Amino acid sequence: MMDEGKTLKIRIRDINPHIVCSLCAGYFIDATTIAECLHTFCKSCIVKYLQTSKYCPQCNLKIHETQPFLHLRSDRNLQDIVYKLVPGLYENEQCRKQEFFKSKISKGETENMVQPLCTVYDARDAHHYIHDELITMCLDRFSATSVVYESSTYNLPVLDQKFIRCPTRTCVAHLKKLLRKMLDIPQPLEIDVVCDEQVLDCDYSVKQIWLMFWSDRPSPMMLFYKVHPKVYLHLPAVNS
Ligand SMILES: [Zn+2]
Ligand SMILES: [Zn+2]
Repeated sequence: MMDEGKTLKIRIRDINPHIVCSLCAGYFIDATTIAECLHTFCKSCIVKYLQTSKYCPQCNLKIHETQPFLHLRSDRNLQDIVYKLVPGLYENEQCRKQEFFKSKISKGETENMVQPLCTVYDARDAHHYIHDELITMCLDRFSATSVVYESSTYNLPVLDQKFIRCPTRTCVAHLKKLLRKMLDIPQPLEIDVVCDEQVLDCDYSVKQIWLMFWSDRPSPMMLFYKVHPKVYLHLPAVNS
């Protein structure tokens, strides 16, 4: 029995047999399982293999006489585990796929590739969703605490909970919405989200911000918010 509170250490080489594809000897990419015998391979490896064989490469079971592909199942959970266990694998795979498409595009080979392009992009999006990591950051009030607008003074409050955890895809626009709601900031006031004294564009994701400002600094990333009266353009009335 294990002592409570003790961390269980597992060596990656003990797990390797369960997360390595027997066809390419690399970690599973787009892990795909044969429904009949539950043996798993990379999607591209098993698809290629089944073009010349009807049998499982691991146990030799006959998969299907005419349509072996119908018996393949993509295994997202296993792929998630592989990506979590092997540092850098997901990022490397993303880079590799991007390079692959860039080279195809530069060679003008995309015309015959419409179908594969679509399927791979779908798979990538799906992984993006599943592997969307969370980022912890501190969202604090910028130095100025009050602002005058429409001849009244507004005191900008501080969030009860400054530390937030959100998906890395979260955009500045989302943060602004969140701030407006949580702090009940009146509509005539514009919200700015700031990092290193620089006002951030609405469509920056927190991942981009982290890459631009924080990748070499200790966690949590520090963002600040401030408000200022919205600037309205007063156009001269058109004379009819
Ligand atoms: Zn493989
Ligand atoms: Zn098998």
